[in-house]
Amino acid sequence: MNGETPLLALKGVGAAIGQKYGQLGLHTIADLINYFPRRYDDYSVLTPIAEIVPGAVSIRATIKQAKGRYVRRGMHITEAVAGDDTGSVRLIWFNQPYREGSLKAGAEYYISGNFELSHQRLSIMNPTIELVSDMPLNTARIVPVYRETKGLTSRQIRAAIGQIAKVIAGLPETLPEWLVTKHDFYGRSRAVYALHFPENADDLAQARHRLGFEEVFQLSLAALSNKYELLTEQAPSVPFEEKVAKEFVSHMPFKLTDAQRKVVWSIFQDMQKEQPMNRLVEGDVGAGKTVVAAMAAVMVLHHGHQVALMAPTELLARQHAETLQKLLQPLGFGSQVGLLVGGMTAAQKRSAREHIASGDIRFIVGTQALIQDTVDMHALELVIIDEQHRFGVDQRRTLQIKAGHMPHVLSLTATPIPRSLALTLYGELDVSVLDQKPPGRSEIITKIESPNSRPQLYEEIEKELTAGRQMFVVCPLITESGAVKAVSAEEMHEQLSKKAFKHHNVGLLHGKMKPADKNDVMQQFVEHKLDILVSTTVIEVGVDVPNATIMLIEGAERFGLAQMHQLRGRVGRGKDQGYCYLMMSDSSAPSRRLRALESSSDGFKLAELDLELRGPGAIYGTMQHGQLDLRIAKLTDTILIASARSAAQKFIDKHEDLLQYPYLHEQVSKLRAVTNLN
Ligand code: ADP
Ligand code: MG
Repeated sequence: MNGETPLLALKGVGAAIGQKYGQLGLHTIADLINYFPRRYDDYSVLTPIAEIVPGAVSIRATIKQAKGRYVRRGMHITEAVAGDDTGSVRLIWFNQPYREGSLKAGAEYYISGNFELSHQRLSIMNPTIELVSDMPLNTARIVPVYRETKGLTSRQIRAAIGQIAKVIAGLPETLPEWLVTKHDFYGRSRAVYALHFPENADDLAQARHRLGFEEVFQLSLAALSNKYELLTEQAPSVPFEEKVAKEFVSHMPFKLTDAQRKVVWSIFQDMQKEQPMNRLVEGDVGAGKTVVAAMAAVMVLHHGHQVALMAPTELLARQHAETLQKLLQPLGFGSQVGLLVGGMTAAQKRSAREHIASGDIRFIVGTQALIQDTVDMHALELVIIDEQHRFGVDQRRTLQIKAGHMPHVLSLTATPIPRSLALTLYGELDVSVLDQKPPGRSEIITKIESPNSRPQLYEEIEKELTAGRQMFVVCPLITESGAVKAVSAEEMHEQLSKKAFKHHNVGLLHGKMKPADKNDVMQQFVEHKLDILVSTTVIEVGVDVPNATIMLIEGAERFGLAQMHQLRGRVGRGKDQGYCYLMMSDSSAPSRRLRALESSSDGFKLAELDLELRGPGAIYGTMQHGQLDLRIAKLTDTILIASARSAAQKFIDKHEDLLQYPYLHEQVSKLRAVTNLN
């Protein structure tokens, strides 16, 4: 029996049960070995019968008698009495008539279960029971509980794992010996064994420590490998010209914040190098990332090269093209900004491509589809990715082939990634933080609302609208759905435009509309032809309408923390006080998420909380479940992360050959691909 042996080789695993294992993604012995328990029930402490109290108990006792009977039709009871030196206790099983025959009177058992009151008498109800002479799996120890599926219980899984204890004990080491020795870690086999068969709490803690370290070590090694690979790439240097930067600043309608200045300076320095820049700028919504990108672009345009900016949606691409045209106009580069998106007509696209080829347009703004487009990018020197966590190596490669070399890459994101996570996952990135908002912005007033406060809320809103401000209303659904109890954008639009705010202009925007229609509606809102825009989360990223001061989120309990924080960032971008109302579907108590949002406007703090509540998947929004499968390590454990990171660096500094560690190599290759995708 080895790792590749199918589970069907185990006792008790036939075709039907095998299929159940398949549903859990388990096919081989190796899969089962790596199927770590979800939690544990501690039945390790045996209590003398005289001392047991109501609750979970474990005893070691001899069965004295056992008798089954039907108390009424369909209701069978098995009653047994078990005793030890200190006393005796009653055991009761419901509807398990086979018990009577299977219990051996006079034999000693481990018995674990809940000691509780039933029919006015204290008994251990439906206990798990195992002969002391057998190796106990389900009693008298810290019992692992696995993720189950219908027809496959933890008990069955424990029985299967019990059969492969020997294989686990013989697992080869997967970490370099020097690391295991240095940290005094459990070996791989001992650690995995302890997860499935923990002797005590300390044994379990040691196992988790070692395996958690290993997970983060693999992740760090993947990130560092990516980094060093990138360091071998060449990119043309973009010399810094002070007068260009000064001129840009002199034409700006405002002064750069210190944070903007610092970040821009790092970018200029990066681009001067002959290695490709790979910088991520994290800045909370409204921190002013667009200006930073514009300044980087200007330097490249000045030297006669191309710049491409990619945004996640066409809507945002269009808005960026417009903003950038305005920002670059005074320097004479305004006409070099050109839009290329799927929603344009064939003629418009052809014309754009021609202008790009002729060099009239050198700053190309679009969605990520640009990478696939036939557009001529032979002079591409800088790629700016807006509102994406990062830009994958695969996408880089495509551009490298198109451009003939690796371009400099600048990523902008408003999803603040906690530092612990950024260091681990983005080891290959240089991260800058725009930790300062432009001056004069007041905090957005955030309030949790419930349906019965709606009338007063609408009165408040009416005042703002009358004063000339605008409002976003975001709904969780486009149309009514019988299955989900939440207000839809269409329904909300109907209500607001016909009733509550019928004296105002109310528009509707959602993802199923044609791109041209979406743009129309958005444009009307930007031009204040609409006072209220009811939408789904299509407006989540980037959209900038300084006159919009109210964000009303309907069915707020259905949204994620990071998502709502982004939505809130759509308002309060101008000089007026911004408001964000979190409207719940009913009057139940607000969740921790909503309360956090109400009390904090710090994107980083909220991201930490999101990480705690939902795991790293919340931040890696588009990542497939299970890809970044940290089963043991907590990314909030900063000490563990620091030590695993420094070990990964050491591994590289020692020029260790990854191929010598087949398992590590396999994991790292997988993770390199994962952490390289958006
Ligand atoms: P984000 O970081 O969310 O992309 P934007 O770049 O859209 O933010 O900027 C938000 C708003 O702040 C814009 O209206 C922009 O003109 C303005 N802004 C940017 N930088 C400054 C600054 N230094 N001083 C004043 N306003 C600024
Ligand atoms: Mg932006």
